[in-house]
Amino acid sequence: MLTLTCPYCGVTAEETELTPGGQAHLTRFGPGSSDAEFEGYLFARTNPKGVHFERWRHAYGCGKWFHAARCTATLEVFGTYPAQAVAPPDDLIAHIKARRPGWEGWT
Ligand SMILES: [Zn+2]
Repeated sequence: MLTLTCPYCGVTAEETELTPGGQAHLTRFGPGSSDAEFEGYLFARTNPKGVHFERWRHAYGCGKWFHAARCTATLEVFGTYPAQAVAPPDDLIAHIKARRPGWEGWT
């Protein structure tokens, strides 16, 4: 079972206590954007086998959204961090690179 630690309240919660929110760090496009940009924002998602950055909500806890980095193949969790972060923390990136030497980045 997937377990994630909420970066706000510190509780390590099982997957059933959380709500998935899809891919993290999407660039949002709204009024004034092109049709292609808006379509990409609505529908285009990565689906990697390996390291993935996702949004999760601690639905049956503090209720806050946060980001998690995990491996989609093994369910190894590399870390969680607040949803307000525009990019993963440097120490988390270093941790992932140490665990997955061939990994090329989070973008
Ligand atoms: Zn929480």
